[in-house]
This record gives sequence, C-alpha cells and structure tokens, in this order.
Amino acid sequence: MSLLRSIDPSVDHALQAIIAGTSLDPTCTTDLAVGPWDFDSRPGYGPGSSMGDVIPVGAPRQGELPAAYREAGEDELDARIHAAKQTLGDRVVVLGHFYQREEVVRHADYVGDSFQLANAALEHPDAEAIVFCGVHFMAETADLLSGPDQAVVLPNLAAGCSMADMADIDQVEDCWEQLAEVLGPLDEPDADGLVPVIPVTYMNSSAAIKGFVGRHGGIVCTSSNAATVLEWAFARGRRVLFFPDQHLGRNTAKAMGVPLERMPMWNPRRPLGGSRADELRDGRVILWHGFCSVHRRFTVDQIEQARAEHPGVRVIVHPECPVEVVDAADEAGSTDYIRKAIAAATEPTTFAIGTEINLVRRLAAQHPQHEIFCLDPVVCPCSTMYRIHPGYLAWVLEELVAGRVQNRIRVADDVAQPARVALQRMLAARPR
Ligand code: SF4
Repeated sequence: MSLLRSIDPSVDHALQAIIAGTSLDPTCTTDLAVGPWDFDSRPGYGPGSSMGDVIPVGAPRQGELPAAYREAGEDELDARIHAAKQTLGDRVVVLGHFYQREEVVRHADYVGDSFQLANAALEHPDAEAIVFCGVHFMAETADLLSGPDQAVVLPNLAAGCSMADMADIDQVEDCWEQLAEVLGPLDEPDADGLVPVIPVTYMNSSAAIKGFVGRHGGIVCTSSNAATVLEWAFARGRRVLFFPDQHLGRNTAKAMGVPLERMPMWNPRRPLGGSRADELRDGRVILWHGFCSVHRRFTVDQIEQARAEHPGVRVIVHPECPVEVVDAADEAGSTDYIRKAIAAATEPTTFAIGTEINLVRRLAAQHPQHEIFCLDPVVCPCSTMYRIHPGYLAWVLEELVAGRVQNRIRVADDVAQPARVALQRMLAARPR
C-alpha cells in the first residue's frame, strides 16, 4: 500500500515556519510574512522577487486598508471572504492567477494564467464585478475583453508587474522613432510586401503597449503561443521588435532557428537601445531589455545540483528564464505546459520546476505521488502578486456587498480599441 504524503501548499505557512524557527528553508526576506500594507505607501514593489527592480514614478499606490482587515487572522478572513461570495452569488466572479497565494486562490472561481482568466470572465457576461486576483496588466486585459457595464476590480492597486513596467509607452514610442531613422519609414512594405519591423508584445505589458502594437500592425503573444505569433509576424515584416521580456523573445526565436547574433538588444536608457545601426538592420528579432525577476532567479547551477541530488529528475522551466537555463533544462514551457506535463506523468516522477513558488507548491500538493520541488531553494514569491493578501480580497468583496466598487481598473477607449485589435490578431493567428 502506498502512503500519499499530505503537502501544505501555503507559502505563507512556510514563511511563518521560517520565522518561528521550525523550518530551516531559506527565504529572500522575512518581511514577506508581514502584511503588504506595511509597504503599500512606499516606493518599490515590496518584499519578494521583484523588490530590487526600479518602480516607475507613476505606479499606482494603494490607500490604507481598514484596520479590521489588517488585524484579522487567516481563519476570520477566510470566513468573511466565503460569506461575501455567498451573498454576492453570480454577481461576482473571482479570478486567481497560478502565482497567487493559496489563501486567495482557494476562493477563486477560476485559476489560470492571465489570458485563461480573462477568457474565463467572458463566460460570465452578467456578472457585475470581476475580481482579478493577479496584477495590474491582467486586470486591464480583463477590462478590454469584458462588457462595458462590468467592473474589473484589482484588490490591491499596488499589485503591478515589474516586467510589464519595464516597457512604458513613452520609451516604446521613442524606440519606434529611432528605429525609423535607422530602418526607414516603418509602415512602407518592400518589394516582397514586408514592412521593416512588426512590434510584438507579450501579454505581460500595459494596455497602452498593447494599444501601440495594435496601431502599428503588431500583435500580442502569450508564453504558450509565442512561436505561432512570431511566425505570423515574420510573414509580414523583415524583423520583430519584441517586448517587454527579452528571455521569452530570445528563447522562442532561438528554438525557431534565429541565431543569437541576429537578436540585438534594445535598452531604452541608451541611444539606439545600446546597439549599433548595422546590428539593428541585420537583426531578425530586436529584444527589449526587460525580464521577470522571478524567473531570472533560476540558474544552471541549480539544475546541476538538482541532477546531482535527484538522479533521473525531470527539469521543466518557464521560457521567461535565461536562455542558458532553458538550454540546460529537459523542457521549457508555459505554466499551462508545466501543469499538463505533470498531470500526464503516469509513473511516480521527480520534477524540478523553474517557475513561481506558489504554483510549484500547489502542484506538489495536488500530485503527492510525484516529488515536485522548485529549482530555487529560496522561498521568494513574486513580490507584486503577493500584494493580494486575503485582507484585500475580503475588503473589495464586502465593499461590493455594500454596493461600493473599490479599485476599478478601466482602460481608456482610445487605448482599448487598438489594444483589442492586437489581441484579436493573436486569436486569429493559427499554428501552421
Ligand atoms: S511572475 Fe514576473 S511576469 Fe509574472 S507578475 Fe510576477 S514579476 Fe510579473
């Protein structure tokens, strides 16, 4: 008889155990165990993987959460969230991102990646409110796709995304102007019908960037469909400008056979992005200098250690990881790919996973027949996702019960229209 292990998926509990001294696991900061309200009014993304990144000056700040929510314990918040959801019934849909903490995800009507969740909201056109337990760009995408009378709510306005914030619209407009000086008019096709450059943005970008892409003949991609989207773009342009995540762009283009030397970098803080004009002219994919601080933590050393300590381990990493990490892994794929790969394993298997720790711990709890661990031994969740504490979820739901909509995220019409065009192009792009 096999005894299945019971695994606690809660990163919060792991952090509390570290602080209490009952766990020897390392963490990037014990500040993670306090409420995010201690950091909401300060500049910075707060404790966790992105805390070293530079937050844009205009990033939203969250107002103070009432003390009744800050001081409530886990069980009380759990009961209040449950009761408010029961009262609201079909009037509200709660969406939980894969990287969200367990104490929030357990209340979600849907759990998925950002695009899966935006689509899930479409199944509830009569819901008055869509409470998106993710980060800012995800709530914007849900607003783009939802009905005009539906309110999309982000429980904590300080939940941005450091990667999305690395490409702001002024920087991208400036880049476009500089590229036109090097490559000529960007909207004029050559004799083969190809324009000089097609802009491609990862879903993890602001609505303003998606709108820019829509206005300039470009397209959105996810980590699941990036290769299909790049094929779409290469059928229409000589090159691609890919933002904000250099790693997803590089890993995807490399797998399609584009040599690394034909992927010049665009650093928005340097003239011509820090590349020479001839490198840009010869470039096939111009990579924006953005990255995810969660996935940048994974290293080849961690993979080698996992292989030494767990012979036969299957290493799967997310394509937001650096190229050398993707090369050293057995497989690379989106969160959806990782989940499906584990679910499809019929024999007990050891998996070392290179993605956000909340998802890895949840997968370990869901599949106790396998040994599943995070490649990064340090307990260090996505800072920005971690801003959605259950206290904020309880607050926005109880406010909805009282007839008040807090923290509504709205995309202006002049941005929304071209952003929807870019999303529609992605939906219409099919693998060959
Ligand atoms: S995991 Fe990375 S890309 Fe995802 S929300 Fe966090 S910082 Fe942004």
